Amino acid sequence: MENRKRIYADNAATTPVSKEVIDAMEPCFRELWGNPSSLHTDGQRARELVEAARAKVAAAIGAEPSEIYFTSCGSESDNWAIKGAAHMLGGKRKRIVTSKIEHHAVLHTCAALEKEGFEVVYVGVDERGVIRMDELRAAVDENTSLVAIMMANNEIGTVEPIREIAEIAHEKGALMFTDAVQAVGNIPVNVKELGVDMLALSGHKIHAPKGIGALYIRRGVRVRNLIDGGGQEKGKRGGTENVPYIVGLGVAIEAAVARLPEMERVRVLRNKLIDGLLTLPYSRLNGDRELRLPGNANLSFSYVEGEGLLLLLDMAGVSASTGSACSSNSLEASHVLLSIGVDIEDAHGSLRFSLSHENTEEDVDAIVKAVRESVERLRAMSPIYPAK
Ligand SMILES: *Cc1c(COP(=O)(O)O)cnc(C)c1O
Repeated sequence: MENRKRIYADNAATTPVSKEVIDAMEPCFRELWGNPSSLHTDGQRARELVEAARAKVAAAIGAEPSEIYFTSCGSESDNWAIKGAAHMLGGKRKRIVTSKIEHHAVLHTCAALEKEGFEVVYVGVDERGVIRMDELRAAVDENTSLVAIMMANNEIGTVEPIREIAEIAHEKGALMFTDAVQAVGNIPVNVKELGVDMLALSGHKIHAPKGIGALYIRRGVRVRNLIDGGGQEKGKRGGTENVPYIVGLGVAIEAAVARLPEMERVRVLRNKLIDGLLTLPYSRLNGDRELRLPGNANLSFSYVEGEGLLLLLDMAGVSASTGSACSSNSLEASHVLLSIGVDIEDAHGSLRFSLSHENTEEDVDAIVKAVRESVERLRAMSPIYPAK
């Protein structure tokens, strides 16, 4: 086992930084370390790099460069979009509409706003994880400042009908924000086609480093400043720019979009993985077969604990993720799985695999073998497993 290569199937958690990104970033540490706000040549070279990266991010999502604001991560972009819009419009419009299956960066931001006196409506989803449009339509009213619905779910990969949701938001004069952290690089993302006012993305999910993200804010949309400071990012998000990481994000997103055609191969691999895992007794797929991100497979295995399974897989050299957001003490099942109607036992026995373009058919075969062996081992020890 020592010299076998590990199989990484947790790309929805983070991705390795690509060589092209490292190569693009390195000169920013060694030679091009100027402050983009400085007027001398050292500064202006850094400024050019930042603006070239901004143009790349904009081009990748169909925006104008002036509509892209760099942040420190996806969570920061989520916080800024939601709090920034709520605080800007909150005097008149006190309601925010979101969903029950958002990332915690959205859910906890909304919870913080509830403490401030905002009203948040959490719309439910169907068994595939798709927003219940009737509930959404009923929730969005003249008092709504913002509708915040993710473009693709990080646990079960469900892709939401953002364009339709944006239309509903706009009919009532609300702003539309989407967390597209999981969508970017996996499926086409175009802010104009989606009709969104704000969109969040993150570097480390697309082979750039951790600690860099961006927020698209459509021209004309006004949100509260995030960081008051030296006037960077048009005065909305102060702080000297993280030039190397911004450059890295630009290269990464350009490469991710160029690789989109390859995601069809990832989808085929993912389907092979799902088919292989569903041959195990008492296994089921969570979410929809087709309406999901190309690399995402989320399955429940009855009569096993997700954490135990994860550890056995890890020993077998496979990195995956539990569907349940178990922290060491709290046995809290995944809010996403519960929202799509998975019962609490199965929610605790679920695993997420997220493949990338770097995974191979051999990886898939090895994952299926490792899961089969691990599940059999755990079930052999289970007092409640019926088919011994
Ligand atoms: C990873 C993720 C985030 C958070 O991004 P960070 O850069 O890690 O802060 C937000 N939303 C979704 C859907 C994610 O998958």
